[in-house]
Amino acid sequence: MKNVFSKFKGFILDLDGVIYLDKQLIPFSKKFIDYLNKEDKRYVFLTNDSSLSPKAYSKILNKLGIKCTEKQVVTPITNFIEILRKDSLMNDQIMVFSSKQLKNFIKKEKIKIIDNPSRYKDSKSILVSGNINFNYKDLMYASLCVQNGAKLYATSIDNSYPTALGNVPATGSLIAAIKKTFPTPVTNLGKPSKKIFKLAQERLNIKKSEILMIGDNLKTDIAGSNSFGIKSALVTSGKTSLQSARNSKIKPDFILKNLKI
Ligand SMILES: [Mg+2]
Repeated sequence: MKNVFSKFKGFILDLDGVIYLDKQLIPFSKKFIDYLNKEDKRYVFLTNDSSLSPKAYSKILNKLGIKCTEKQVVTPITNFIEILRKDSLMNDQIMVFSSKQLKNFIKKEKIKIIDNPSRYKDSKSILVSGNINFNYKDLMYASLCVQNGAKLYATSIDNSYPTALGNVPATGSLIAAIKKTFPTPVTNLGKPSKKIFKLAQERLNIKKSEILMIGDNLKTDIAGSNSFGIKSALVTSGKTSLQSARNSKIKPDFILKNLKI
């Protein structure tokens, strides 16, 4: 059967709002992945959600019946570790303001993390990733680190994310508070940064023209694809309605209801 997907050799797939919502599969997403495997297409998942490690995401996906290896998951943390490795910063000491799970994952990657906040002056960089336990002390030490010259990295610059209760502060809001205390540039590790799209392309190991990005967020998935120079499809099964997609200045190449083949 001819469909928009048949034209592409590789896929970069967002998770929330595309494959699942609140970790429940969205209709047709599993069938879509089965189709990709049957047709020998390549795919990676690219999420801005940094609460878990790539390995933990691949476990969740496999449990849901979505075939996926750890290498097929790219998150802002993948990008962060890559930056530290490429720029030979692995020996620098850094402070991490994130979920416990993520911190443990970063430690396993042999990155030197300062655990005692009173040593904030030794920190060359800090990583901020919104999480339910982020508190005033975190905000205070993160601000003190950047005042003392630490480079600021954020897993995303989204200001809010949707929950059943309504929109709640995301990493971007925490970064805004740090910047209010002490103005400093921030490196966004997540979508729409070109670097994270490049990492996803490297994992696929194919040309840009052969890739389709599928996402539900215009500002991260679609704007990121446009600036990186790959084709994109917006699915209206998540964050963005068909109406708001039509009204937006950010244009995907395709708009799809879901991943039905
Ligand atoms: Mg999404």
